[in-house]
Amino acid sequence: MNSKHKEYYDKRKEKHKEYYQKRRENLEWVEEQKIVCKKYKENNRDKVLEKQRNYKKTYIGQRNHKISEWRTKGGLKETQERMIIIFDRWLNCLFCESCGCEFEKKNFKCMDHDRLSGHFRQVICNRCNCFRNKFDRQRALLMLEIHRLNLRL
Ligand SMILES: [Zn+2]
Repeated sequence: MNSKHKEYYDKRKEKHKEYYQKRRENLEWVEEQKIVCKKYKENNRDKVLEKQRNYKKTYIGQRNHKISEWRTKGGLKETQERMIIIFDRWLNCLFCESCGCEFEKKNFKCMDHDRLSGHFRQVICNRCNCFRNKFDRQRALLMLEIHRLNLRL
């Protein structure tokens, strides 16, 4: 890193420090900024929407969207680093890792994970995923039944 870069980074660091200090001290200012932000979004709706649309087209945008979806809807429990590796594998996968078929519009790409532990298993097609879903549910019922039998003995 040369001196020019260092100067730039130091300046930016100071600016960040000032900003967070301001945030901590003036809670009113934070509320004001929220209103300003809301007004800007209302006035420049098309601009904001276009920016969002363009962000979703980028690799980072797609990745963050998919990872948050897996985490909230799917219940995938992995660290952020593992999530990135899983996303790359999902993105570059061309054939189902279970049956070997090509992905189509109806038989789309899925991220398969263990519903009990929340760990990632494979990248598979929707048909295989539905089958595994059923299997997981039956496995859970079977485990419950075994637990009950053990209690009776
Ligand atoms: Zn398959």
